[in-house]
Amino acid sequence: MSELPPPAAFDAACETIGLELEAAEREQLGAYLHLLLETNKQFNLTAIKEPGEAWLRHVLDSLSLLPHLGQSDSESHTLRVVDVGSGGGLPGVPLAITRPDVRFTLVEATGKKAKFLQGCADELGLSNLEVVNDRAETIGRDKAHRQRYDVSVARAVGPMNVLLELTMPLVRVGGRVLAMKGRRLEEELRDAGDALMLLGEGQIEVYEALPGVSEDALIVEVAKHALTPKQYPRRPGEPKTNPL
Ligand code: SAM
Repeated sequence: MSELPPPAAFDAACETIGLELEAAEREQLGAYLHLLLETNKQFNLTAIKEPGEAWLRHVLDSLSLLPHLGQSDSESHTLRVVDVGSGGGLPGVPLAITRPDVRFTLVEATGKKAKFLQGCADELGLSNLEVVNDRAETIGRDKAHRQRYDVSVARAVGPMNVLLELTMPLVRVGGRVLAMKGRRLEEELRDAGDALMLLGEGQIEVYEALPGVSEDALIVEVAKHALTPKQYPRRPGEPKTNPL
């Protein structure tokens, strides 16, 4: 399996945030980036083409969620995480590589991208990762997925009011949404008050994703306190065209 080694800046950033990776994990992360950047030559998965930058902006960014994912409450329950709008596998694939004890479901609407994600799971031997080629609005109404997950993660799938309608219905009461966001967050949160009340009365915390490395990357944690009413999510496309 070909792989791309991390640059010194990645190692330095890991040290700053206190992230320790095993050699085998680094190899798998490099192998994943190789697959991502090679496939990106055939169809668009990421605007980042340079491996060093991809280690920082894709792998490090994704792994910034690790301290927030949490543990399973009981030994008989495996923590279930859903990555909504996973695209080329971010943050889901780096998380699945580094948390083999967690079951990841990657949801991606575009067939080609979902096929790439399944190829990654197969080639990297990630038995804790399943791919669902569908829209979040559709699986959010399907009993097999609705309110079944402990945590939903999402990066770059829209402003908070849209993202919450796509993710909250998938999360169980007592579970959490973890959204990766930038500095425009305040405005987005102001606009998302109604969505929060309507979808499960979440409580919000905001964390710096990469303390000491970047002030721009933020993680928004929304704790779900109540069941999502059955009219949500609305039909495919509506959360985006007519946000709550
Ligand atoms: N999360 C990845 C990242 O950070 O690189 C991909 C971000 S990309 C801008 C957004 C992805 O979400 C696209 O691959 C798109 O196909 C997918 N997507 C958008 N709306 C979706 C929906 N309603 N259900 C499932 N996937 C969706």
